Amino acid sequence: MTYIKPICDCQNELILTVHETDSMNFHINKKGNLIKSSVKHFKETHGTELACTQCGNTYVCEFDIEKRLIRGGVDREGFD
Ligand SMILES: [Zn+2]
Repeated sequence: MTYIKPICDCQNELILTVHETDSMNFHINKKGNLIKSSVKHFKETHGTELACTQCGNTYVCEFDIEKRLIRGGVDREGFD
């Protein structure tokens, strides 16, 4: 099966956008100060989308049977 790169309706090649949130957890000492040595850092992925830099359309990410990234349906049309 030949892979075809995800292409927008406007024929532009799509890029993948990964939405991530950074969180940091601190323990608090008896005086109410943050204990810097107890920092725990988290990175959470909230979603991915395929985006067009040309017209601003975004598309749902899907994967083919070989787990390669392909374009799903339109998520948003144009730039916000
Ligand atoms: Zn486009």
